[in-house]
Amino acid sequence: MPANQRANLCYTHPMDIFTIIYFIAIVIQMVIRAPISTKQRKEPKSNRLVTTQEKILLGFLFLADFLIPILYAATSWLHFADYSLPAWAGWLGVAVLAASLILFWRAHADLGLNWSPSLEIREKHELITRGIYSIIRHPMYASQWLWVIAQPLLLQNWIAGWANFIFFIFFYSLRVKAEEKLMLEQFGDRYRSYMQTVGAVFPKF
Ligand code: SAH
Repeated sequence: MPANQRANLCYTHPMDIFTIIYFIAIVIQMVIRAPISTKQRKEPKSNRLVTTQEKILLGFLFLADFLIPILYAATSWLHFADYSLPAWAGWLGVAVLAASLILFWRAHADLGLNWSPSLEIREKHELITRGIYSIIRHPMYASQWLWVIAQPLLLQNWIAGWANFIFFIFFYSLRVKAEEKLMLEQFGDRYRSYMQTVGAVFPKF
């Protein structure tokens, strides 16, 4: 068999530069989050809203953000749904992903131990309205919006690129509603006036 046909048989997926950048960004996110994640687990909590809905949402997030992209990159199973964009679109995706990571980093730096993967209030919970939280109320979710916009530009596949975007529409609407209800219960008028002056994911001018 000619060498090029042999190569075709072993072919899984071209690990193009944009796919590699996507996975590097995942590692950067983990590095930003890891120190806060370990510390916040030991924090005493006064309220936890870890419902079945929450668990399902977080499971889907992991699937769309990580598992499906791994399948796309490491197997040929999703090949049938590939598309191809011009190089500038991929680089635009890189720029959007970089902006997403900067927001992600600032949000963790400002929220500190008040962060939690699910909706939780710690005993010493502090309402953060400084830093990036003085510009938007949900910088982490804004960062995730940028991420799901970058993903279809980087992972050029109808499933691996878009699943996260579709999923995040549901996640965002359900999560923000529950989170703001919790914050209003906890902080009352202070959160209400914060909502009036600071936008959710777009700054208010
Ligand atoms: N929605 C925020 C935070 C996401 S982490 C963002 O997008 O950046 C979710 C946790 O953050 C929730 O359990 C909630 O208790 C906490 N939280 C959300 N906004 C907060 C704020 N302004 N100050 C302190 N804690 C906050």
